[in-house]
Amino acid sequence: KAKQQGRNAYEWFTRAFTDTVSERMVLRNDLQEAIEREEFALHYQPLIDREGNLDGVEALLRWEHPEKGFISPARFIPLAETTGQIIPISEWVLKRACLDMQLLNQQGLGEIRVAVNLSPLQFQRSSFLANLRQTLLMTGLPAEQLSLELTEGILMDNTEGAIDTLHALRSMHVGVSIDDFGTGYSSLSYLKHLPISTVKIDRSFINELNNSEDDAAIVQGIISMAHHLGLKVVAEGVETEEQYQRLMSYQCDIFQGYGLAKPMPLEALETFVMGLSRKE
Ligand code: C2E
Ligand code: MG
Ligand code: MG
Ligand code: MG
Repeated sequence: KAKQQGRNAYEWFTRAFTDTVSERMVLRNDLQEAIEREEFALHYQPLIDREGNLDGVEALLRWEHPEKGFISPARFIPLAETTGQIIPISEWVLKRACLDMQLLNQQGLGEIRVAVNLSPLQFQRSSFLANLRQTLLMTGLPAEQLSLELTEGILMDNTEGAIDTLHALRSMHVGVSIDDFGTGYSSLSYLKHLPISTVKIDRSFINELNNSEDDAAIVQGIISMAHHLGLKVVAEGVETEEQYQRLMSYQCDIFQGYGLAKPMPLEALETFVMGLSRKE
């Protein structure tokens, strides 16, 4: 009986394993076609400041698969990172985001700053800065309107090269934010030495803000220490009025979340921005 069970477990394991492997292979081939056919789109999620004005937007990648429908970036980006496909995808994202913001500039919607998520692989490439300059030049977007979101992990590995790159970005006037702050191993005292402007507190802490005294204390601590270091703080994943009010009372600078605005296509962003400016 035990042997029987053992074999079942083994069969189950190999089946589950081959399923994931073949699923990944299919996804990888599909991703290749998606790159060639440009099945990607960018959605933009507003970031709102304490006065209720638009601080900027975050560009979030969307993949509309012809048969499988919408596939989440949380699923295909890690895969694209292991296969290297993230490189052409990232180049497309950066160019699209810059072109879109230039389009809004030309429509007189105000100079909106766009935050683009960076993959570690992209950031570590020796051609990264040259490509970035080239993209800004080609699209005509002023560098001040671009900011990049990096995770703590990117800065922990390959530290020296990373710091040089951050200094180069600062001298170009491209902003840098630390994304998902609090989930990695870096501390605010470490960030003190880095030329960055903003930390984004991870959604997981905001989630439980009104139920967990621990999370509330962590969030409060991050905000007050970040302010001492001259950094701005963004709270991500703000879904409820209670979370928003509490973050306001903690002096959080910028708010992002479904409770304020969901990620939306460019056309919807235009309408959203026009609505905001009419209110003033
Ligand atoms: P992220 O950079 O931390 O982006 C925030 C994620 O939280 C987005 O998920 C956004 O839609 C979601 N979000 C925002 N507000 C709320 C909220 O109130 N509640 C909930 N439940 N979720 C909220 P999304 O678009 O699925 O992206 C997931 C992750 O994929 C991103 O996390 C980022 O790490 C990565 N990603 C997205 N686009 C790109 C890209 O162009 N390049 C790279 N390298 N990574 C990207
Ligand atoms: Mg981000
Ligand atoms: Mg984030
Ligand atoms: Mg996050």
